[in-house]
Amino acid sequence: MILLDALMVLVQLLLGWLLADLLSGVLHWIEDRFGPGREHWPVLGSLIFTPNIVHHADPTDFLKAGFVSRNWTTWAAVTPLTIILLLAFGSQPWIWAAAIGGAMASEIHAWAHRKTLAPDWALRLQAIGLLQSPRHHAVHHVPDHRRHYCIISDWVNPVLDHFEFWHSIELLLPKGWFR
Ligand SMILES: [Zn+2]
Ligand SMILES: [Zn+2]
Repeated sequence: MILLDALMVLVQLLLGWLLADLLSGVLHWIEDRFGPGREHWPVLGSLIFTPNIVHHADPTDFLKAGFVSRNWTTWAAVTPLTIILLLAFGSQPWIWAAAIGGAMASEIHAWAHRKTLAPDWALRLQAIGLLQSPRHHAVHHVPDHRRHYCIISDWVNPVLDHFEFWHSIELLLPKGWFR
């Protein structure tokens, strides 16, 4: 029974991690596909859309920022989402895995751009794909930047790309959404 319980916790942790990866892809897709042309928007324009456009033009520019300045907008999104999930479902392993993955998303992204920023344990996790590897993330930076939106692991993107997930969503949305 104890083994089974431990296995269930592990499965939950993995699913929470993959959920965070999926959500990172959704937010990144919105930034990439909705942001251009809306950089003048209050708050979102200067904090999210413009830095994202700069990141495509100069992928290592965001590494000049300090740890807090390249992560705080992610934390601002993850914190309320985690509170909502905790209130809705109570304290569950998958929620904590998703919260940690979400909170680390920008830093994992930074490590995928510059290995020297990553601690040794993170390099080992990059090697197995639990953390996104530089080679995997590089696929997103090939124009037209329409693949590999998820930035936490190497495991969700291939599934979404195989089923043309992002393209299918875009077909369902009004054309005026994209500029
Ligand atoms: Zn992008
Ligand atoms: Zn990048």
